[in-house]
Amino acid sequence: MSIEEARIALIMTLRREGITDTRILSALERVPREAFIPDAFRERVYENIALPIGQGQTISQPYVIAFMTAALEIGERSKVLEIGTGSGYQAAILAQLCRRVYTVERYRSLLREAEGRFQALGLHNVTTRHGDGYAGWPEQAPFERIMVTAAPERVPEALLAQLGDHGVLVAPIGPHGRQEVVRIRRVDDEFVQETLLPVRFVPMVEGIAKAE
Ligand code: SAH
Repeated sequence: MSIEEARIALIMTLRREGITDTRILSALERVPREAFIPDAFRERVYENIALPIGQGQTISQPYVIAFMTAALEIGERSKVLEIGTGSGYQAAILAQLCRRVYTVERYRSLLREAEGRFQALGLHNVTTRHGDGYAGWPEQAPFERIMVTAAPERVPEALLAQLGDHGVLVAPIGPHGRQEVVRIRRVDDEFVQETLLPVRFVPMVEGIAKAE
């Protein structure tokens, strides 16, 4: 199977598994996942699996990316904060669907590589920051949407504070082995939480990484 055929087959798998939003499916079709992973895994890039991206981190399974993106209920005009840039793939998907993406990563090396990919792909609506996602991005708050792609044990307070009114936050929450994607909706100063899907994510770690 060629890489193009594998990509189409993946989109069909996602559709069968219940991802029906055509905007999300076409974003997944447009963004070349092979540009975000080490060459060693090129053969497996369009399998519905998570893959390593360096520094012990992983790019999520396409189904989980599509599911969380759908859960975010993103709009064309949204300003979105992502925590955990990693490879940059999720940010690139979000960038197809909204006005601007702000993304924070604690590893400088991963962030640099992701920035190179955004440039190479002409994604000019992604803004990056090397920092600790537990602090969010106060200078740019409020955000209409927030997506967290590493798992904290509890929803970080700073992120709730930076969520705009009627904003939506989607995050994998919980200790290793018992995480679930939750969606939190802010209505005035109330936060309404739903539990959506059991998942396995790398932990959200406090502070900037000491390693490059
Ligand atoms: N969205 C990424 C997923 C990467 S895995 C992608 O599409 O590839 C999760 C990422 O979150 C890792 O790169 C990890 O370094 C980062 N991370 C973990 N804790 C963090 C924190 N406190 N602040 C910022 N990034 C964090």
